[in-house]
Amino acid sequence: MTETIQLHDKKFVKFIPSSQIDEAITEVAQQLNRDYQDDPPLILVTLNGAIVFAADLLKQLQFSSVLSCIKLSSYQGTSSTNVMKTLIGLNEDVKDKRVLIIEDIVDTGKTYETLVELLSEKGAKEIRIATLTMKPDAYKLDLPVHYVGITIPDKFVVGRGLDYEGLGRNLNDIYQLYTE
Ligand code: 5GP
Repeated sequence: MTETIQLHDKKFVKFIPSSQIDEAITEVAQQLNRDYQDDPPLILVTLNGAIVFAADLLKQLQFSSVLSCIKLSSYQGTSSTNVMKTLIGLNEDVKDKRVLIIEDIVDTGKTYETLVELLSEKGAKEIRIATLTMKPDAYKLDLPVHYVGITIPDKFVVGRGLDYEGLGRNLNDIYQLYTE
């Protein structure tokens, strides 16, 4: 049976059950425990969407890390090009540190690219990313995406931190936009 929900004017259909998402998060946590045990990174969570994934992930990490948050937003200029602006900046000193970015989704990679530029400018020693979901068909960069929970098709999704106009972040399952 398909399960649909309504958020504002749009319908969404259940796409990835929470059990599968939880398994994917555990796998990412295991990879991080393996790779960072001896030299923990500073963990940088992107607001707002990644807080849900970060909360689930962090509980399973077996190393101690400093946690920091950053909020970027795409700024619609007069042209169609997207320029990222920083709404909440980086508080921690990242110079000569390993940094692990926590993301809810990597789509085109624009957000990731902006973060890499910012962290590189500030002298981070190593920059990696762990993302709950990724859309490989939409991804436009050559930068490696190091830890990926679930790859999804290039369609709009909500749930587990991902929203549609502010709603849907609390959904435990991931839902895909329903198109008739
Ligand atoms: P980027 O293109 O920079 O990789 O992703 C930009 C931002 O677009 C993401 O951080 C996320 O906020 C939003 N985004 C991209 N794809 C989706 C999607 O399928 N669902 C939701 N809710 N947001 C998305």
